[in-house]
Formats: sequence, C-alpha cells, structure tokens
Amino acid sequence: MSFYNLDYEEKRFIQLAKKNTRSYYEHHDQIPSSPGQVELAKELAKEMEELGLDAYYNEKTAFAIGKLSANTAEKVTPIGFFAHVDTADFNAVNIKPQIHENYDGQKIILDEKDNIVLDPTEFPDLLNLRGQTLITSDGHTLLGVDDKAGITGALAMLKYLTEHPEIEHGDVFVAFGPDEEIGCGGQYFDPADFPNVEFAYTLDNGRPGDFEYDTFNASEVTIHIRGTVVHPGEAYGLMVNATTLMNDFLSNLPQDQVPEKSRNHDGYFLVLHAQSNVDHADISMIIRDFDQSEYNRKEQFIRDLVKKMNKKYGNRFTVNIREQYENIYNYIKDKPYIVNLALDAYRKSGLKPNVQSFRGGTDGNFISPKGIPTPNLFNGGGNYHGRYEYVTVEQIDKLAEVLTNIVTEHLRQTRTGRNEKPLEKYW
Ligand SMILES: [Zn+2]
Repeated sequence: MSFYNLDYEEKRFIQLAKKNTRSYYEHHDQIPSSPGQVELAKELAKEMEELGLDAYYNEKTAFAIGKLSANTAEKVTPIGFFAHVDTADFNAVNIKPQIHENYDGQKIILDEKDNIVLDPTEFPDLLNLRGQTLITSDGHTLLGVDDKAGITGALAMLKYLTEHPEIEHGDVFVAFGPDEEIGCGGQYFDPADFPNVEFAYTLDNGRPGDFEYDTFNASEVTIHIRGTVVHPGEAYGLMVNATTLMNDFLSNLPQDQVPEKSRNHDGYFLVLHAQSNVDHADISMIIRDFDQSEYNRKEQFIRDLVKKMNKKYGNRFTVNIREQYENIYNYIKDKPYIVNLALDAYRKSGLKPNVQSFRGGTDGNFISPKGIPTPNLFNGGGNYHGRYEYVTVEQIDKLAEVLTNIVTEHLRQTRTGRNEKPLEKYW
C-alpha cells in the first residue's frame, strides 16, 4: 500500500538522479567540491519555499535549509532531518535511470553489449523487491540512490504535511548538505541554521528498518622516522636506516586487529601508506573502534610503541594523532528517546527495526558534537556507490511514511509522555 504518492516520488527521484552532483576529494578545499551540488541545493531551497517553508541556501556552508513551522500551540521541541546532495566517487556523467515496473525477480540486463547484468543470484536482496517499481542505472554510471532517495523521502514528507494541514506537528527542519561522501559536509553545517533543534536524523544508506546510532570513533595517525645517511662503505656503527626502523615499528603492530580480520563490533588499525628510504620514513594509518575505552587503548598503544622505539633507537620517531570523528553513541547513550522515537515510528509504519553498528562514519558524527545528536535512519536502496545501485519507489515511499510518523509521534509522545526505555546493548 502506498503511503503518499508513488507517482510524485518516482518522478522526483528520477529528476534528482539525473543531476551530476559527484563530490571530489581533491577539491575538498572548496565548499562544496563541485558546482553541480550548488545548483541542486539552490533548487531544493526554492522547492521548499514553494511548499510554503521558510527556506534558503546558506552560501557559506552550501546547505539548503527549510523550516516547516509548527501548526500547533502545543510546546514541542523542533526536530530535524539531513540528506546529502553529493554522490560517491563513481561516474555520474549522463545518468540514465531505468524503470522496471512490477519487477519480476529475474536478472536485469543493464547493457547487453558490455554484458552488465544486475543478477539476484549475486544480489539476493533483489528478490524481496518483486512486484515493486525498481529503478537502476544503465550500468555505466551510479544511480545516486545515496542520497537522492533520502532527499526524495524528505521532500515527500514535507509535501504530505503541507498538503494535510489537519495533521498537527511542531517545527520540522530539513537540511540538504554537500560533500558527505568526502567526509566534509557535516563539518560545514552551522547549527545556527537549526535553532533549538533538539535532535535530528540522517537519511543515509540502509534498507527500510535499518537504524544506526553506533559508529566508529576514528583517528588518523602520522609517524615520521628520521634516519642517518652515511656512505655505505663507511657506514659501520654510523648509518641509521629509516627503513629498518619503520619495519620494526610495523612488525610490532597487533597483526590480528586489522580490517580483514574484524567485523561486527571489532575495531582495527589500518596502515594506509608507508614509504621510506635510508634518510627518512613516513607512515600514515587510521584507528577505528566503536568502544570508547578500546579506542583510547588503541591510541595509547601507538604512543607507547613510539616511546619504546624512541628508547631503542634514540628519539627518531615523531607521532601525530588527529581525531577525525567520535562515535555518535557518546551523544545518544543518555538520550534513549531519540532512538525509541524512531523505532516506534518504524513499527507504526509496519517495519521491523534492525538496529546495527555502522562500520564507518556519517554526517551525524560531525553534527552530533555541535549539540544536535544525529543518528541514522535509511534511504532504502542497495549496492551503493556503483553501477549496480538500485532502489524501489515503494522503499522511498516507506521512508516518507517513517519521517511523517516520527514528526507526528514526537508530538503525540510530547503530550502523553516520552518513551524513555533505556537503550539495550544489541551487539
Ligand atoms: Zn550517503
């Protein structure tokens, strides 16, 4: 059953998907990193204005902001939603969305000549989408479900609420931001654009029902090692080969705490890059862990190892640890209502909640420390970031329904009492 308006959702998503809004890490010194994002954000601000919202484009942060004002005298805190306008690092030129109505569960030939096939034996999640309106790319670009499905869902919710003024709600803020895929957008966000917003949700990745409030803590480590170059013929007792020191350091890292040996709630060390000659060596690595004390231990391990190496070789190692982002859980753990409200809205929308740890970061990792705790909902699609990306119109419709139910449930629970049931450890 359709909640809102499948025709609108299908058309709007297709229009959004066709726009090239790919973000570029190499241009991350510009806000945003590509002009297509400015164009789309401005268009979205205008669209929200036409829906009757207070809306604008923030030139400084490249966010489109909309405020749907409360239509109730009841005192209810404002809440917000975030979706991102940029798409991942994959071809986004000339995106041609393909519509497969009443999908039959068979494989879909995206391009016969190049033998690009979307095959349910390879992606069995597709079998759950039989009978729905499936949208794919033509196999040569991504589709941009991430996060244009999120944008479409938010727009459909706003349209629904503006067309149904009899449905009471508090202030609802929506923000469409840039450069999530390159880890920047959330950093740019100005909380002054969300005045008094108590909490918010990102609409990013995941199947209907997925919910994430537990993400990595993340830091970036750089290590510099200084060697001593002497002519090899006269090197006895004098040369200090930075490569040898680097190898010693690397071999002392925990060999079982690496991405290829970790899953679920495990953290890891990852050496991204190591380069050396006799004179000097440079290592760049990252640390990831969900658990705050485990994460602190991992950072301390690196500092201790550097200390040990400096003792052994005479102060030739320098280390710099930069925190990239902090687990959203740290900002949520004492505020179970934020999680319970979303899960109550899922159930009300006929979805079975699937709470899971997210082995990465989201915009919420940067927005939460700014005073607006922001866990992640979903946008519905699958196979993000590549040529096999897909979504169904029904999934987007489900998102719109969930968002509307969060808004109405927030007012209802403000009246009748908030669901403050403590969070359970699900991992
Ligand atoms: Zn995304």
